[in-house]
Amino acid sequence: MSWKKILKFELSGDSLPIMIGYWNNYGNYYPQYKLPPKPNTANYDIAKVTKYLNRWGVIGSYRGPSTCRICGKMPNGIAERSDGVYSWPTGLAHYVEAHQIALPDYFIEHIENPTKKGDLTALIDRLSNMEDERAKQVLMQLRIQAKEDAKQWKDWVNEHGEDLPTPTIEELQELSKNPAIIAAMNKKRDGEGDRFLRMMNKDISQSFYSERRGREITPEERKKNILDVAVRIAGRFIVYGPVEEE
Ligand SMILES: [Zn+2]
Repeated sequence: MSWKKILKFELSGDSLPIMIGYWNNYGNYYPQYKLPPKPNTANYDIAKVTKYLNRWGVIGSYRGPSTCRICGKMPNGIAERSDGVYSWPTGLAHYVEAHQIALPDYFIEHIENPTKKGDLTALIDRLSNMEDERAKQVLMQLRIQAKEDAKQWKDWVNEHGEDLPTPTIEELQELSKNPAIIAAMNKKRDGEGDRFLRMMNKDISQSFYSERRGREITPEERKKNILDVAVRIAGRFIVYGPVEEE
């Protein structure tokens, strides 16, 4: 017998929490969304919203580790939280606390005067605040997933979010000489900064072998590969500029 049955609890359709706080990344893996709004645009009480976002329990972690689109912090959360009505990535609190980005009025109004979703909100609330570590496991076992077609969020982020950068090779080569980029890239653990600088400094017309397929790729493919990597790595500098050290 599943936990859902034991708890006399079933979720479907309109009873699912609604997604909020998801963005594009620089690889355009989420083409339906733009990037986060500019920093220092908060339309709410920072401390209050941060506290609210962190107080609810983790309902799942099926989307993998996230990187902050603004400062490159990695990982910035690997899971999702929910209050029964909305569901957001754990890393959303970082965007609020560190970057003070704007959030939708409908979500802020909800935090000010939470609407509840009966049993679901009460259950998550209870499991989130129990001392017993097993309560967290039970919450995860419920496998509550957010409604994917969050039109309200999509409309909001596409009105208030930043556009994906589409720089030229020449602009990227110029960016690769920027001391702020070099300093920040050198800090990255995964070596992508070095790779970016190496790629930018190579002649883009030079042919090379695809790592995956072992075949020689065309100059067009090479150019696209370089742009994909470069835009992903340099994108946040293009869109948000250098971020101050904390
Ligand atoms: Zn950040």
